[in-house]
Amino acid sequence: MKSRKKITGLIILVTAAIYVVYAAWPRTVPAEILQEPNTILTSVSEEVTAFDEQTKQISEELKEVIKKTDFRGHIFGLGLAAPQLGYSQRIIALKSSYGDYQIMVNPKIVEQKLQLPWTEKCFSLDGRHFLKRYFWVKVQYQDIEGNDFEETIIGSKAAVLQQEIDHLNGVLINDY
Ligand SMILES: [Zn+2]
Repeated sequence: MKSRKKITGLIILVTAAIYVVYAAWPRTVPAEILQEPNTILTSVSEEVTAFDEQTKQISEELKEVIKKTDFRGHIFGLGLAAPQLGYSQRIIALKSSYGDYQIMVNPKIVEQKLQLPWTEKCFSLDGRHFLKRYFWVKVQYQDIEGNDFEETIIGSKAAVLQQEIDHLNGVLINDY
């Protein structure tokens, strides 16, 4: 019994140590990502109505740049919003798995549950910030061809989604 407690304690300690190293690890920010202060980052992005070449091109750029920030062991979620690349358009990219990124056009949270304290980083500004995010969200969005989708997302991917939608509304994590 005693050794089991010791092992449990050790596992918790190792997990905490891994998380601290992960959280403190410096991230290289690709040059394409706009840095605060910048008026595009604090503006409300436009709804996409024409699903054309520009929509496609912006989503390709988002995927290219997000890939540069990704690495295999990245488990806490990753996202990028079009205004971070200088486009005031409601398009975001979310990491699904390594090398696979989901594009959402005009994403909108229609239901949310369980608000929890959370901590996040953003590629457009320095530091780790404390805020609150919903653990469970239901999102409606379109793909680059304008087809409608609805999806339920939980955990760190849900938090990333909320940060990206905030970007579309000109809100940054240091505004909380
Ligand atoms: Zn961000």
